[in-house]
Amino acid sequence: MKRGFRLFYLLLCAIIVISLVGVWFFSGIHRQTASVHSRVFTVVVDAGHGGIDGGAEGNQTSVKESDLNLEIARLLKAKLEGAGITVVMTRNSYGGLYGTTTKGFKKRDLEKRVKIINSAKADVMVSIHLNHFSSPGRRGATVFFAEGSSRGEDLAKCIQKHFNTLSSQTREFSANKGDYYLLNEAICPSAICECGFLSNQEDERLLLTKEYKDEVAQKIFYGIIEFLME
Ligand SMILES: [Zn+2]
Repeated sequence: MKRGFRLFYLLLCAIIVISLVGVWFFSGIHRQTASVHSRVFTVVVDAGHGGIDGGAEGNQTSVKESDLNLEIARLLKAKLEGAGITVVMTRNSYGGLYGTTTKGFKKRDLEKRVKIINSAKADVMVSIHLNHFSSPGRRGATVFFAEGSSRGEDLAKCIQKHFNTLSSQTREFSANKGDYYLLNEAICPSAICECGFLSNQEDERLLLTKEYKDEVAQKIFYGIIEFLME
């Protein structure tokens, strides 16, 4: 082989190799970018209480908090799934998660919830609850986050902002720190949504209507979406 030809041949081989490496590299980047854009989010929706733990009770009708929590959680699940988000429910029946109703059932119930939340590798966890207070005048929807969790605080603020636009909200509330086992143990950004007071006559009346439960679920949905899009 003549020297000039050998040089040309080597150069050609080098160009082919560099081109192939380039194609492989950039297609990899493209694949990565595509997977970021089409990433499917996972949200855990926790309906508080259940089974023998009914939670708070309505002053007027004795409606159980656990039942209303589940109904709001189901409405929220449908909205999230409609937006292409994967939803994991800690419970989707009226029963609790404690197994047997023996001593320590409440602790077992909460531990099971934490296990579900943390094994879901979720982007967000929201826990649905209703409040009760000795003074029946207190009303409104408020959100709590774990102290020291800045992402949890961001999430709670997003949901609170939308809660403050509820048709029933009589004044603006701020998201608050709360020392709750579920919030402290969850590894993803988490918030507890107290969707109203069962000790308040008007809140209780509204929470018994499908329209209002749907409005509450819609606000939580908006808050989650805003947080995920940040
Ligand atoms: Zn509760």
